Amino acid sequence: MCGIVGGVAQRDVAEILIEGLRRLEYRGYDSAGLAVVHDGEITRLRRLGKVKALAEAAEQCDTSGGTGIAHTRWATHGEPSEANAHPHMSGEKIALVHNGIIENHSALRRQLQSEGYHFSSDTDTEVIAHLVDLELKNSDSLLEATQKAVSQLEGAYGTVVFDKDNADKIVVARSGSPLVIGLGIGENFVASDQLALLPVTRRFIFLEEGDVAEISRRDVKIFDEHGKQVKRDIHESDVHYDAGDKGPYRHYMLKEIHEQPQSINDTLEGRLNDQGVVLQSFGSNAESLLKEVKNIQIVACGTSYHSGLVARYWIEAMCGLPCQVEIASEFRYRQTVVPEDSLLITISQSGETADTLAALRKAKAEGFLASLAICNVAGSSLVRESDMAFLTRAGTEIGVASTKAFTTQLVALAMLVSAVSQVKGSGDCSHLRRDLEHLPALIEQNLKLADSIEALAEEFADKHHALFLGRGDQYPIAMEGALKLKEISYIHAEAYAAGELKHGPLALIDADMPIIVVAPNNELLEKLKSNVEEVRARGGVLYVFADEDAEFESDDTMRVITVPSMNNWLSPIVYTLPLQLLSYYVAIIKGTDVDQPRNLAKSVTVE
Ligand code: GLU
Repeated sequence: MCGIVGGVAQRDVAEILIEGLRRLEYRGYDSAGLAVVHDGEITRLRRLGKVKALAEAAEQCDTSGGTGIAHTRWATHGEPSEANAHPHMSGEKIALVHNGIIENHSALRRQLQSEGYHFSSDTDTEVIAHLVDLELKNSDSLLEATQKAVSQLEGAYGTVVFDKDNADKIVVARSGSPLVIGLGIGENFVASDQLALLPVTRRFIFLEEGDVAEISRRDVKIFDEHGKQVKRDIHESDVHYDAGDKGPYRHYMLKEIHEQPQSINDTLEGRLNDQGVVLQSFGSNAESLLKEVKNIQIVACGTSYHSGLVARYWIEAMCGLPCQVEIASEFRYRQTVVPEDSLLITISQSGETADTLAALRKAKAEGFLASLAICNVAGSSLVRESDMAFLTRAGTEIGVASTKAFTTQLVALAMLVSAVSQVKGSGDCSHLRRDLEHLPALIEQNLKLADSIEALAEEFADKHHALFLGRGDQYPIAMEGALKLKEISYIHAEAYAAGELKHGPLALIDADMPIIVVAPNNELLEKLKSNVEEVRARGGVLYVFADEDAEFESDDTMRVITVPSMNNWLSPIVYTLPLQLLSYYVAIIKGTDVDQPRNLAKSVTVE
């Protein structure tokens, strides 16, 4: 979602800014733009669509200038269009980019219009540009004007602004939307994610909530939410931009599906020992904190929420602790009762998911014993603001539809189950370790199903709806399968706990409604078989991903895809694979934009 890159340098920055935007492209966006200043004149370019179009436009004109800002927009207010694309300007003087949402934009717009400002876009963002311009009239510096302007904003922003008449500096402000300053030699940069700046530096300062900073070529001055000048730590980044190419794969999503044995191996690497799991993997204080835990509350969004739902089955069954799971956008605004000694677990691929972050901040005031972030990005807001953190080491995930980030989250949660069992002494944990170690090989085996699933996908191409069924800890996997199909093939798909069909959804069953079933060989298999028969009796067409020992047989109304036999608690991770492959191959047949599906963004940094 929405990306920001900015810089102040002696050399021309346009190419650096565009490369930065390219590295943030995978997050999903609808338009892109940049503004550079040279000899007191601003050159602004904006294009609807891809960064490539912006780069081509930049080649056609003079974009020299050592100070500049650039943006990829994911529209929240105002349609995706060139006029609404950032940077926004106030007159010919101020240029500004913004990630987030300004909630009081209507009131501010009216006020600024009465001051004589003319608006040229439908965005909430444009008010910030005019507000800075207005405040500049009574301020000594752009920094002071920006501080005054942002103090009037309600909502969330990461914003970067420059004034063409004092173009040796840019001013940045953060509240609710991440910004990181990249320190160079005689040049400095800013971005919404360090990935964008890796070609120019590895030294970063992560701004904190409420910070405003003035950045020039040789200096960075940071002020906290009270306007007091502060020093923030400099971090040496070891993040790798490993998304450069797709290798032999047609899409990043397919590459990432196939990377899962490796990413799971990486997540486990060095974190298993004779007792089970190395407790410090969750943080240096994990052992003492986990000992105290009596309740668990998981909060997450989208795919991460599904991993939390699987974990609830595991935690209650294997750790004997009550566990609740809730969508972050609901949890953050709900009055909640927090049982004593509760652990809050947040799960987010990026660690910048706005709703999840807000839920963590809300929970801090509510007496949780501690918070644990399960996250793929070191140094992200969620990791920094939590008491404990577990990094999933999935590597950069480019496909908007999450695959390896999801399965590594499940591995992290399985390791948490093992860790809690260890510290609480709840039973023999030795098999947990063995099961985890065996997992990458099982995933590898399941990837071999790709060809038969590709052939099966043909049958979905003309369908408009699909139902996914599972029971127990496979029910959330059915939900994740339905979400994947919706996200990338645009087929309407829903998931049900198989035992729930007769309470309503059976009415939907006919020959045009494919039913996808996940059927491992577990204690619920016979119950699931009865549910499958209920569907068959009503003319439904079934696609069953079944354990080879589960004794399903293909016939006219049932296609069975045999999954290599396994019988342990990690089967939800394994059954995720065939469903990922199914949605991928269906999307290929439908010709959708697999890696950047319409309307979606990768890291959802707005509410
Ligand atoms: N709310 C702003 C807009 O719609 C910013 C969106 C974004 O974060 O990209 O232009």
